[in-house]
Amino acid sequence: MPLIKPIFPASSYLDPASEAEFRHHLVQKTRTSTKRLALICIGLMLVFCATDILLGDSWHSLNNLARYAAAVIIWLYLMYSVRLNANNWLQGWLAVSAVVIVLLAVTFYASGQYFGKLGEGGPMLVAFAIAAMPIFHLQQKLLLWLLLLSNLLFIKYCSSTDTGWGIFYLLISIILCLSWQRQFDKLLRNQFKAVRLEQQKAETDQLTGLLNRRSFEQRLMQKLTELSSGQQLSLGLLDIDYFKRYNDHYGHLDGDLVLVQIARLLSANPALTVVRFGGEEFILIEQHAATEAAALLQLPTQLASLAIPHAASPFGVVTASIGVVTLTDPTHVSGSGELMQQADILLYQAKQQGRNQAQQRLLA
Ligand code: GH3
Ligand code: MG
Ligand code: MG
Repeated sequence: MPLIKPIFPASSYLDPASEAEFRHHLVQKTRTSTKRLALICIGLMLVFCATDILLGDSWHSLNNLARYAAAVIIWLYLMYSVRLNANNWLQGWLAVSAVVIVLLAVTFYASGQYFGKLGEGGPMLVAFAIAAMPIFHLQQKLLLWLLLLSNLLFIKYCSSTDTGWGIFYLLISIILCLSWQRQFDKLLRNQFKAVRLEQQKAETDQLTGLLNRRSFEQRLMQKLTELSSGQQLSLGLLDIDYFKRYNDHYGHLDGDLVLVQIARLLSANPALTVVRFGGEEFILIEQHAATEAAALLQLPTQLASLAIPHAASPFGVVTASIGVVTLTDPTHVSGSGELMQQADILLYQAKQQGRNQAQQRLLA
């Protein structure tokens, strides 16, 4: 439906994966405010029960019974939903809202019968309460509003209660809320895009597109916690050999191109987390089976076989040296400091022993 799609920012602003990520994010951020709103709704329903009883309605009239039922359903879901994951929690609220709307339509019918007419404030209030639900987007709210509207139409044509003005003001409220919600949907998604872009920029090295040093520590700790039994973690510090000479011989711009080529080689292996540590130095993190050697050890050979000419190097091609620390028991690591220090010592040894090679040490 290409004509209708632009009306709904939730289906046209972000690609499906980003939209799913955004909704997950939104649910996480609005759990508390949704609960608060649910409690306000319960409170309002009890206040309306009290005022109707003061006006002469019985405490167990159909009108009040439907409100108690709605309040109880919301309360029960509030208690139950604590353990639900983001997606189920959201779907649950949608279902609960639909049931509550039907119960409130019963109160509209019963109070219309009791007082002789239906005040237009009730349906409007429900429309605004739906608008205030922070987790729903326009399509979802539209469904709930249409359910409310169809209930009022049903009462109008199937009972003696006149809901004419109620429907009129409900329609106007829906149109206003709809326009507000559409802007809100757009705004939230634009903000999400902007924040994500800023985050990506802050974590990415401009020249190579690799992660930069800022995000290294967090990635390392994440990789350590993800490690399953029987796995080891290797951290490598890779430095290009004779790179100053390369710049002096070919110029800095060609030097930059070499950095990009090397970044591409390193990121071609999806098992590696690659960070540009600075200058011509890269940090690599690899999770691998304890029975297998780290793929990091092969990097100098792989780089040399790219055969990027380097006339000022004794090897004739661009090469690199790497120091690799392999953790056999990663449970006691508290930060990157010790690992980096070890990798640096190993890198120095690799340079001392002629460059274009890997030096490895196992750390218990
Ligand atoms: P070694 O084999 O001992 O590592 O020698 P090297 O010349 O590579 O070592 P050194 O640390 O002395 O030189 C690193 C050079 O890397 C210095 C600098 O010109 C170059 N470099 C650092 N960052 C960049 C960059 O972003 N672009 C380019 N083109 N060169 C860079
Ligand atoms: Mg260096
Ligand atoms: Mg170097």
